[in-house]
Amino acid sequence: MDTPLETDAYDAVRHTAPRALATEAVHAGRDDLARQGLHAPPIDLSTTYPSYDSRGEAARIDAFATTGAEPDGPPVYGRLGNPTVARFETALARLEGTEAAVAFASGMAALSAVLLVRASMGLRHVVAVRPLYGCSDHLLTAGLLGSEVTWTDPAGIAEALRADTGLVMVESPANPTLAELDLRAVAHACGSVPLLADNTFATPVLQRPAEQGARLVLHSATKYLGGHGDVMAGVVACDEEFAGRLRQVRFATGGVLHPLAGYLLLRGLSTLPVRVRAASANAAELARRLAADPRVTRVHYPRIGGAMIAFEVEGDPHEVIAGVRLITPAVSLGSVDTLIQHPASISHRIVDADDRRGAGVSDRLLRLSVGLEDVEDLWADLDRALQRPGRGAGNCATSHSAPAAASRP
Ligand SMILES: *Cc1c(COP(=O)(O)O)cnc(C)c1O
Repeated sequence: MDTPLETDAYDAVRHTAPRALATEAVHAGRDDLARQGLHAPPIDLSTTYPSYDSRGEAARIDAFATTGAEPDGPPVYGRLGNPTVARFETALARLEGTEAAVAFASGMAALSAVLLVRASMGLRHVVAVRPLYGCSDHLLTAGLLGSEVTWTDPAGIAEALRADTGLVMVESPANPTLAELDLRAVAHACGSVPLLADNTFATPVLQRPAEQGARLVLHSATKYLGGHGDVMAGVVACDEEFAGRLRQVRFATGGVLHPLAGYLLLRGLSTLPVRVRAASANAAELARRLAADPRVTRVHYPRIGGAMIAFEVEGDPHEVIAGVRLITPAVSLGSVDTLIQHPASISHRIVDADDRRGAGVSDRLLRLSVGLEDVEDLWADLDRALQRPGRGAGNCATSHSAPAAASRP
């Protein structure tokens, strides 16, 4: 019953009508399912694929080695590409508004692949703006992949570019301070050098950096895209040319995403807009209450919104971490449940203390990833944790005793 004509007509309707983000989130990467008589996406766990046509396979491998385009026809080997992971890549590219996306085993594997692509072209110099996620900062500062970094502020980017600059890297809102920058202006300052925007915090629901001129959009998919704290992954959304090079590096270095993770991420994307909007509404309310609280000295909440809050406390931040009960004291973010951590101790511990403080990550800063719980329950937990009497300011620069427990209105 599936004549070629019907298939063409079906695909034309499926692919031409412009679709809103909420629609893409539940349909992208699944366009072929109904035609196959399926509803849930199949999970393909094959590591290899039989073929009686080794001449044909040779030609497809040659094509991959030339362009990095996904091989036509049946897959060849798991490190070259996997159909379940490809569904997630297709869906994320649609959400970010790019031609392609390439998935990796973690956010750090994704960033590593980008650096290797540029280094393999002799472009080892990176210009970057702090703060970045602690391990991204570390990877660049330590030069683990042979890159050399120049740290600058957004206004200094154009001047920092050199003939061998292969990449400009920024985060907005940044981890952990939630500092924002004007991506359009930054992209302009980059000229022909690719701009990589880490969009982990904003997600495509709040911001689509490619529309503002970023050539590469990176996600730690471990965070909001997965959304349930049970899958590690990274992904780069970009044009097809760069995607080809990323696939070639992934093939050669092996940082592939497992198909089960690909399945979970595709499922995660379908609720991404709903989760991000609901968690953001909670976060906006908590940010408002924290800003009005005398025990809190600073609150950072992005103009574009989102579900992340950074705040500094008058008392000992370690006591707040020790005091939460409903909220989970743990690194990472973007899950359905609320997490809190102390960046100077955990997520940004690996960054040199002076560099960290210089980037605005004070020793009193706490980072809250707001989830989907009832906002009153979350506030009650935070309120109780903030009331814990400090045992002094711990390793903080200045010593304060925590103020007496304030009676709440
Ligand atoms: C967590 C994180 C990363 C690293 O991602 P992993 O999946 O942990 O490797 C990169 N960037 C940002 C902004 C992050 O929060």
